[in-house]
Amino acid sequence: MLPRYLLLLLFFSSVALSDNLNDTAAMLREKALTSDQGWQIVESLTTEVGPRLAGTAADKRAVNWAVELLEQAREANVFDRVWLEPVRFPIWQRHHERARVISPYPQPLKITALGYSGSTDGEISAQVIAFPDLPSLQAADEAAVAGKIVFINQPMFRHREGAGYGEVVAVRYAAGIVAKQKGAVAALIRSIGTDSHRFPHAGASSRVEEPLPAAALSAPDADQLQRILDRNEPLILALDISVSEQADGESHNVIAQIDGRVDAQKIVLIGAHLDSWDLGTGAIDDGAGVAITVAAAQLIGALPQRPRYSVRVILFANEEQGIWGAKAYARAHRDELKQHLFASESDFGAGPVWRFDSANQVLKDMAMPHLAALNIEEGGDASRSGPDIKPLQEAGVPIFQLKQDGMDYFDYHHTADDTLDKVDAGSLKQNIAAWAVVTFLAANLE
Ligand code: ZN
Ligand code: ZN
Repeated sequence: MLPRYLLLLLFFSSVALSDNLNDTAAMLREKALTSDQGWQIVESLTTEVGPRLAGTAADKRAVNWAVELLEQAREANVFDRVWLEPVRFPIWQRHHERARVISPYPQPLKITALGYSGSTDGEISAQVIAFPDLPSLQAADEAAVAGKIVFINQPMFRHREGAGYGEVVAVRYAAGIVAKQKGAVAALIRSIGTDSHRFPHAGASSRVEEPLPAAALSAPDADQLQRILDRNEPLILALDISVSEQADGESHNVIAQIDGRVDAQKIVLIGAHLDSWDLGTGAIDDGAGVAITVAAAQLIGALPQRPRYSVRVILFANEEQGIWGAKAYARAHRDELKQHLFASESDFGAGPVWRFDSANQVLKDMAMPHLAALNIEEGGDASRSGPDIKPLQEAGVPIFQLKQDGMDYFDYHHTADDTLDKVDAGSLKQNIAAWAVVTFLAANLE
């Protein structure tokens, strides 16, 4: 039994400690709301690097850009360590893609090849057969599909949390595979997006040996194709898709760490993905996430005292073509994952955070007063937190999620229209404030 005065001392010092954490969290929040550091990061990445398809020369420039950004912060004593970890994958690239109706009403259509699509090797032409969704293609008679171009015209619904994406994204992954099984010569899908602009949405399909040529039509082009089909005359379409795949691609996860003062082996991991599709400049996907998590960590690293546990920021390589960087990280750090206290990724644009999810009630209780001041409500247990966190979550790492309003996210996602003007500077600051508060408290939990 400890003497009474010592117990009292411990009691008062723990009150003082949580008061301290509270004051520091409030200060971080205020600082985030007045700093334009996050904006500078996303402005710099999208301007000086631009599109950065994994494995390309542009992706290498992105890695160099990130190293420079984080090294500068390390030299200012904001981070203790910056390092690279290699990630290997095949490099898939588009070269050109064209679609035109030959008959009955000749006209061009706007398409973009899907990631891991095959090439047509010159222009091919065939009759189009349409399906409302994937199950109806799966149920179709092979004789009706063989030799044709399959077209799946399933719209995606707008939803604050992006729930519509999960409902239709299987079409993008599987259309080419199922079409090939039925003997089709190519697959077209309606873009996985919520806009009505003439920008087709890129995105990965499942990687297979000898894939069919597969592409997404912009939403207005999908509507146009459907109207022509509704005339009930055979629709002949010409398709010219040229892509390439090259083995032995390489990129790097770029990692910076603030070492914990009590136990540096225990880690709160936050991050985003550095790569982007090639059509836009990757501002909302995921330049915003890079800015949010790096700026939040920089605020924590600039405090006079290190947090109890380490804060590790990871800019993942090649998320877009199948979370290659995240899988490499989970493999390389397999034995340390039980030391990861929390993991979370920002990969849903720059819309404001509206809800905080975590199974850790202590963290929630400490964070909520600060988050409420940012118009963020308390949610339930976190069920997911960004695609790159999935392998960590599956390995048992606890996650948290700062849920963003993604009402317009899929208007721009993976299109040529994903550019800096879609990032709202005020929302970006609110995100950084929320991430700084939660990450700081998570790294200081007893
Ligand atoms: Zn993303
Ligand atoms: Zn993406």
